[in-house]
Amino acid sequence: MGDKSGNLGVDRRALMGAAAVGAAALAQSSNAKAAAKAFWPNGARLAIALSMVVETGADPASVTKGPDGKAYPDLYAATGAQYASKEGIPRMLDMFDRRKLKVTAMICGKSCEAYPALAKEIAQRGHEMGAHGYQHDVQYNMDRDTERTFIQNARDSIEKATGQRPVGWNGRGQLRSANTLELAQEAGFIYHIDDVSRDEPFVAPVNGKPFAVVPYTNHLNDFSYFNNHGVGPGFAAELKYEFDALYAEGATRRRMMVVTMHDALSRASRVHAFEEFAAYAQKHTGVWFAKGADLAKWALESPDSIKEAKMI
Ligand SMILES: [Zn+2]
Repeated sequence: MGDKSGNLGVDRRALMGAAAVGAAALAQSSNAKAAAKAFWPNGARLAIALSMVVETGADPASVTKGPDGKAYPDLYAATGAQYASKEGIPRMLDMFDRRKLKVTAMICGKSCEAYPALAKEIAQRGHEMGAHGYQHDVQYNMDRDTERTFIQNARDSIEKATGQRPVGWNGRGQLRSANTLELAQEAGFIYHIDDVSRDEPFVAPVNGKPFAVVPYTNHLNDFSYFNNHGVGPGFAAELKYEFDALYAEGATRRRMMVVTMHDALSRASRVHAFEEFAAYAQKHTGVWFAKGADLAKWALESPDSIKEAKMI
């Protein structure tokens, strides 16, 4: 009896404690919900933008230098580039379907010309087609007319292959010239991602008109990660760790997480690492996997988005 009553006492305290914790959690969650409503559409607490970079077929043919000092075709390197179309892109597309994710494909115009069926399939599976240059080349050293043609050619090749006119720009190596954004806006682009200054999108003037910036991250870029001897489980852990921190910040301010994956780097274990992270993020409430264009349009249209006086 004594034992029973003692047990009951413990149970009651446990129940009361649980009720108090439940009430506090409910209050916290409704506060967070109320606060989050002011930050993103549909009460989302954290936006996650994924870029799938497609540059296969857009680089000049690889060469290797022989002992005689002459250049020879590097056919081994050519097979590495082909991995993108044969394995990497199809693998990513299947994973995005499994997780019901729509992403932004930052694709080169020449990739669309080399692999038109694959480019079309990316668009048909519901993904945004953004532009990653015409050939896979830097543009900061181009004169204004050459760069204008480079941007227009990228836009036109992507539209021709996929039926989608791109509105987002991503330069090779995130590099651009002083003219890039003016020329991109003239060509119909509404945003670019070559900026790491914030964890949320913002707007700044280009040609005297609003232009959106959907910032990039280098530390959540598979190229940076795996080329520094990173391995799949470490990448998944880093993604989850960043997610947890931004999700916590998302209770009181607008937050966005950006992850970039490259076509030729998408080996099985790496795509698996990303999928593990995506499944983890999807267990949380209020997570908005958003295309870059949706984030840009939100930034351009919302009175709540940050407006910079000057574009960098
Ligand atoms: Zn690139």
